[in-house]
Amino acid sequence: MATRFENGIVVTLGANNQVIWNGSVVIEGENIVGVGSASDLQKQFPNAEAVDCSGKIVLPGFICAHHHFYSTMARGMAIPGEPASNFVEILERLWWKVDRALLGEDITLSAQIPLIECIRNGTTTVIDHHASPSMPDGSLDRIEEAVRQAGLRGSLCYEVSDRNVTGDGIKENERFIKKVGKGDGQIAAMMGLHASFTLSDATLEKCVGIAQDAGVGCHIHVAEDLADEEDSRNKYGMPVVHRLHKLGVTGPKSLFIHCIHIDDEEMDLIAATKTWVVHNPESNMNNAVGVTRLFDLLKRNILVGLGSDGMSSDMLSQMRCAYLLHRLANNDPRVAFLEAPKLLLENNANIAERQFGVRLGEIAEGRPADLAILDYQPPTVLNETNFLGHLIFGLVDATVDTTVCRGRILMQGKKILSMDEERIAARSRELAPQMWKRLADL
Ligand SMILES: [Zn+2]
Repeated sequence: MATRFENGIVVTLGANNQVIWNGSVVIEGENIVGVGSASDLQKQFPNAEAVDCSGKIVLPGFICAHHHFYSTMARGMAIPGEPASNFVEILERLWWKVDRALLGEDITLSAQIPLIECIRNGTTTVIDHHASPSMPDGSLDRIEEAVRQAGLRGSLCYEVSDRNVTGDGIKENERFIKKVGKGDGQIAAMMGLHASFTLSDATLEKCVGIAQDAGVGCHIHVAEDLADEEDSRNKYGMPVVHRLHKLGVTGPKSLFIHCIHIDDEEMDLIAATKTWVVHNPESNMNNAVGVTRLFDLLKRNILVGLGSDGMSSDMLSQMRCAYLLHRLANNDPRVAFLEAPKLLLENNANIAERQFGVRLGEIAEGRPADLAILDYQPPTVLNETNFLGHLIFGLVDATVDTTVCRGRILMQGKKILSMDEERIAARSRELAPQMWKRLADL
């Protein structure tokens, strides 16, 4: 049974972006089968179920290239002890306790809640990085189940680190990577690694071996803080990107998250190995770790995507944060207008294609039916030439009304259809105090 989303403003994006007023997108099964004017498509697909999208704008679903679902239950929690004064203290006092305090059902709930928030924000594809060292085994199955229930696409991995038990989490990644295999376009797997400063050469070599045998990439934090860069220079006598390259972590399937404190030579190495970088501006500002040299990366034709790093599931807000941050950091109001949207709309689609084997980020016949439909009445002309102005200054504050992924309507009229939002939030509020108590006792 086909469905026509009609009478809205359709923005196709892709290489040949078109803005179609009174447009229509017709979907059938998991794919888009028609795009054009509402009147033409009514004639072409007269039996399709019609969904009126007047007063709305129809966009491809958004993609988040780096998330941490597991951070959910820390929301509103008082952090025991003195406030952390630097990044390593933030990890030690907050995140390395949050992940250790997560048990069974907490892992499920802390994935379900951000997945609901993804649906609310039209984010249909997420690349997640998970840690729950008190219960690593089977944790990725729980998250997979939550992603499938939500109806979204997810690339999952477990964060290997030597900080608790040497090589903790390797087995979970290996098991899950084998289980996913080539994937079904909905779930993908990567080898998750925390960061150079918590990983020995032996652990990295083992993980890279598993990843290479399975043909998947590594998903790792790189030079998020100066401490990571200095640790590599002090312990191994080389910059962090050079260390990771020597051990085989670089490459066209790997995601290097942050890359804030890297020098020109490290950038050249990232470019030469076609390794992807994911920028997380809001998280970097929150942790006060520094500003990624975005334009120096882009100048080298490095593919830079955009993530939220667990801060949010709203990718338009992350895009605008990138736009604002790089104007301020470069003291130049001429920059970032093209680049910030490009990270989200174009580069994230390229990253997702490599992961899921499907071409997302474009409304076109034959493409997957992943849509974000937002309430938006343009106050001025809206066309192909000024779409980015509407994106940065208008759509970023618009409410998502309807979210579609793989042809399934997950939210309509702002009501989540695939999950019981109220019950899930209530259960999380029930379990969170126990999780906070375990954390305080660590
Ligand atoms: Zn992260």
